[in-house]
Amino acid sequence: MDGDELLFLCTADRTVKRFTADDFVKRVVVLLDGRRTVDDIERMVCDGDSERRADLRDVLTVLSEERILSKVGDVAEEFGRLGGERAEFYDRQLRLLQDFCDEGLADCASGVQLQRRLDGSTAVVCGVGGLGGWVALSLANAGVGTIRICDFDRVEPSNLTRQALFTAGDTGRHKVDAAAARLRAVNPFITVEPVNRRIHGPGDLADLLDGADVLVNAADQPSANDVAGWVAEACWPDVPHIMGTGYAYHIGVIGTTILPGRSACWACVRAETFADHGRDRMESLVGKREKAGAVGALCGLVGNILAWEAVRVLTGLPPALTGRWTEIDFWPLELRSRPIPQRPDCPACGAGSLTGTPG
Ligand SMILES: [Zn+2]
Repeated sequence: MDGDELLFLCTADRTVKRFTADDFVKRVVVLLDGRRTVDDIERMVCDGDSERRADLRDVLTVLSEERILSKVGDVAEEFGRLGGERAEFYDRQLRLLQDFCDEGLADCASGVQLQRRLDGSTAVVCGVGGLGGWVALSLANAGVGTIRICDFDRVEPSNLTRQALFTAGDTGRHKVDAAAARLRAVNPFITVEPVNRRIHGPGDLADLLDGADVLVNAADQPSANDVAGWVAEACWPDVPHIMGTGYAYHIGVIGTTILPGRSACWACVRAETFADHGRDRMESLVGKREKAGAVGALCGLVGNILAWEAVRVLTGLPPALTGRWTEIDFWPLELRSRPIPQRPDCPACGAGSLTGTPG
């Protein structure tokens, strides 16, 4: 408050809103602390006076229309619709999901509804190593109802500096088994389905995709490009796929999100990026990446961007990585993106066609 003026700082768009306020308005505003209902406030400031009640409604209407007022008092009651234990577990996340709804960023009015979408979703994470481990961990934190993880490797001591799901005691265990135990411990409300398997082609992914709402690709064996092609083929045209492909030196490849029928497909990505390099150079990069150095903090950075994108896809919030290819340069900490247009003549995604294969 500044004299007769009320100042509201909106951190989302970094604007300040100013209102002239009399003593009644000031009294109301300090009571809007999120713990009182409208009825509580009415009892405190109106004293049964119908004119005052109309004034109160006017104040609340203006604040609401200016998107300054989101919830008064009934947040706990709204969250309670998830059930007591879940409401408590997801409390802080629900507050942010509710903010998205209040800001008009979601297609519904209730953060609880977004949480229920996560709860009813199935996500597949291919590879639970340096990237996929972080992806799976954050999806478990977020409450994705079913998380299907696929890997063929065993935990080694050299994994522990960057792979979020494992401890020294897990050395020698199948990664998917150790990962599943950790994810179940993180969130008791989810189901984790470990699949111990090496992927050799799109056919190895078919049963993993049964009922899946999104796949996050974080596998790089036998090579990141091979697995990405198989994933794209297996997911087409039903399952959104988020194509993370790893890191090398100080570049993290965040990749792209493919929503079949709505954004550029993997074939369009390949057509755009293959024009950059000769085939020989692509292969030599892949060869280097298998032994590339890595720091856990940077793996976590890329993995969590992929997980955040998956949360957006699953809740129906607009994805951020479609139609572009994105890398992060860890040194200046810059994201770089290039547009990946849908090619009109693409046999898979062009001209509304979903009959081809984006291999
Ligand atoms: Zn295409």
